[in-house]
Amino acid sequence: MPDYCKRGFLLTDEIAPRPSDERLKERKVAFIECPQEIPCNACVFSCKFDAVEMENINAPPRVIYENCTGCMKCIRVCPGLAIFMLEIKDGKGRITMPYEFLPVPEKGDTVSLLNRKGEIVGEGTVTWVLPPEKNEGTALVTVEMDKDLLFEVRAFRVR
Ligand code: SF4
Ligand code: SF4
Repeated sequence: MPDYCKRGFLLTDEIAPRPSDERLKERKVAFIECPQEIPCNACVFSCKFDAVEMENINAPPRVIYENCTGCMKCIRVCPGLAIFMLEIKDGKGRITMPYEFLPVPEKGDTVSLLNRKGEIVGEGTVTWVLPPEKNEGTALVTVEMDKDLLFEVRAFRVR
């Protein structure tokens, strides 16, 4: 069993190489944290821009950052909630995250930011919300924060 399964969260050196700050300033980009060798390729099939590749059905997916348009199709199909959209806008970091708790936050709300261990590492402001379809399933929520937290924050808590 891989160490991250026993530990329960990923370390920085277990995630994919980061897109550059220049790329993050161009437009939002998908960032996948899915290291487990499981038979799933929904992200590959959802992407119409050849931006997600996989060596075989059990291999971890890899995003080709130059091809990603930021369309967000892949986030909504991922059963593992393992895909995030990252960008730098006006000097701030923005992360779009899948969110399956209730209540779904509203634009303008202040939320507590959590790292992969579930520890609070700061606060952010909700800038965009796509509610779940038919009030079931996964909402998408964009939270603005200090840009240095883009590769640390992976969840948030509504206050
Ligand atoms: S955001 Fe869109 S273009 Fe980018 S990897 Fe996901 S599906 Fe492909
Ligand atoms: S859809 Fe999600 S769980 Fe499935 S391979 Fe892609 S990132 Fe992993």
